[in-house]
Amino acid sequence: MSEYMVEVKNLCKYFPAGRKRTLKAVDNVSFYIRPGETLGLVGESGCGKTTCGRTLLKLYDQTSGQIFFKGQEISHLRGKQLLSFKKNAQMIFQDPYSALDPRMTIAEIIAEGMGVHMRYSEKEKHEKVNQLLSQVNLTEDYANRFVHELSGGQRQRIGIARALAVNPEFIVCDEPISALDVSIQAQIVNLLINLQQKNHLTYLFISHDLSMVRHISDRVGIMYLGSLAELGASQDIFGSALHPYTKALISAIPEADPDSEKARQRIPLEGEVPSPIDPPSGCKFRPRCAYATDRCAQEIPVLEEAVPGHFVACHYWRDLQK
Ligand code: SF4
Repeated sequence: MSEYMVEVKNLCKYFPAGRKRTLKAVDNVSFYIRPGETLGLVGESGCGKTTCGRTLLKLYDQTSGQIFFKGQEISHLRGKQLLSFKKNAQMIFQDPYSALDPRMTIAEIIAEGMGVHMRYSEKEKHEKVNQLLSQVNLTEDYANRFVHELSGGQRQRIGIARALAVNPEFIVCDEPISALDVSIQAQIVNLLINLQQKNHLTYLFISHDLSMVRHISDRVGIMYLGSLAELGASQDIFGSALHPYTKALISAIPEADPDSEKARQRIPLEGEVPSPIDPPSGCKFRPRCAYATDRCAQEIPVLEEAVPGHFVACHYWRDLQK
């Protein structure tokens, strides 16, 4: 049995982009997630984090590389093993409104996966739906309502209940708070944390919101244009970031304390993320990096272990520490 719930080795997911061109949405990404842990995957829109999450769940076939779930490579799974993987690995979607069928009652939505994966009687199903509603802090009378009657936060609670209905071990939370009001976001993140503790869940938490990622994650991966720029324990990433991109992202997080906020020095991040169809040569961050040299245009930096458990892909991370 592997010590990891999920292990990804050199994962690539490419899409054809016309005229013999290729969009490298995920490009040579490697990481692991231990049981009961949350790995936050952060980056600007288009950096490949959602594609990575979907590929992990076999919603896309990988172009190359390996994905292991509890030690088993998922591309080899067939029949019962594949069904068991699909039960054990669930997803919570960004937009709860489009992910939930408006013609079904909330009870039908939550119970849908149970029909495929669990052998419950109608009575057991009914009880399980009520239990799940209570777990996501909704009352039983929501069972007979429809999605359009609910607020954004309530819909996301239903999305979470639906994912939990088949007793998964691993959940990909794909931008689960970005469509919600700021006032609701922390409630949903705190609910996910409570559910993780109660149900021994393992999360991949995908978001562009660094402060929420810091709140929920044990470890964090910073993605840039399909590749990992930095990966490490949350306290290392937020306390002693090594990559210029990570440093710029962290410097943009507002501080709650007014004095710290006044003293905060923002590192400007110039320009937009280049197209993944035609990425820059060498280091993909080069056109936006204040420290880029000729070497950065020629050599792709590898993700190296700078200190135990803390990885960075930058030729000059040592010099930048001085
Ligand atoms: Fe900047 Fe070069 Fe490091 Fe890339 S490898 S982050 S361009 S210094």
